[in-house]
Amino acid sequence: MGLFKAINLNEEKTDTAKEGDVEHVKCLILGSGPAGLTAAIYAARANLQPVLYEGIEPGGQLTTTTDVENFPGYPEGVKGPEMMEDLKKQALRFGSDIRFGLATKADLSHRPFKITIDEEKIIEADSLIIATGATAQYLGLESEEKYKGQGVSACATCDGFFYRGQDIAVVGGGDTAAEEALYLSGLCKKVYLIVRKDYLRASKVMQERVLNTPNIEVLFGRVTKEIVGDSSGVNGAILIKNNAEEEKINISGFFVAIGHKPNSDIFKPALNTDEVGYIKTIAGSSKTNIPGVFACGDVQDSHYRQAITAAGSGCMAAIDSERFLGEVGAAK
Ligand code: NDP
Repeated sequence: MGLFKAINLNEEKTDTAKEGDVEHVKCLILGSGPAGLTAAIYAARANLQPVLYEGIEPGGQLTTTTDVENFPGYPEGVKGPEMMEDLKKQALRFGSDIRFGLATKADLSHRPFKITIDEEKIIEADSLIIATGATAQYLGLESEEKYKGQGVSACATCDGFFYRGQDIAVVGGGDTAAEEALYLSGLCKKVYLIVRKDYLRASKVMQERVLNTPNIEVLFGRVTKEIVGDSSGVNGAILIKNNAEEEKINISGFFVAIGHKPNSDIFKPALNTDEVGYIKTIAGSSKTNIPGVFACGDVQDSHYRQAITAAGSGCMAAIDSERFLGEVGAAK
């Protein structure tokens, strides 16, 4: 039987799959960023015959980055999409079954867990590894889309290095924006922090640090109208001050830090999450509140959000899954 059910365009989609649509797997992995693919490598090598669904953005957030220079083992750096392709090849080499498809529904009320893929096919899984990541929020400007990877970024730790000695801007007023601005102030000549209100939402201690850093200038009451540039990338941004006058700042990098949304909606309320939606795991493990369901990568990490920490937690999830399957006698 093929991996995918042939699509009959005349057929009405229903919530419940028909007989024959249900497939049983020992270890189901959702997500194909560094966390999901690392989990697949470990799970395949442990003979769990993992099935991985790639989700809406195959390769995850790293496919929208250019150079990755902080992942250990690449002395010259590596392109984000290339690294994800290599990780995928590595997972395939050990027999992971990697498929296109998006998990659209999850019934975690009992084992095997029932996960619906593309609102159609049901996978019954003895163990589930959730590596669905988080999506960086963007302002939604056309110019922002145009310069993504060419001056517009949502990750200072990933891309800040390319702007050493230059003038850049960070937009946002929360802890992430404050942290990104502080990080970038150590690399860049000048950092503008663009804040739409007339106060920062960030914690007091972060606010103080930002306000006491000489090369950070906080621009309160500013909304970004447009990011401007040319064929070599961003060279400025047009801001609207206090809903009235326009002003232009000259910058070569524009960092968006207005929050992330963890992709955990379909697992709620079965899984415990924090108020933003990050899945809660038991400290020092990938275990969630449901035995047999594990979470790794950015969907459970609001703090580090790095490729290397995601990969590490993917490894933990595979090992936790292997042990769980052994304990419940489903590993064979
Ligand atoms: P937050 O939701 O806390 O802040 C988002 C910021 O972006 C707000 O200032 C908001 O403005 C602004 N914003 C949202 N949409 C827009 C928009 N369209 N245009 C302009 N500005 C916009 O997100 P964070 O990612 O900063 O933090 C998420 C959570 O993680 C928080 O609980 C935070 O404390 C925590 N965190 C903790 C850290 C630490 O402890 N070191 C580090 C990073 C995060 P407004 O205020 O006007 O709504």
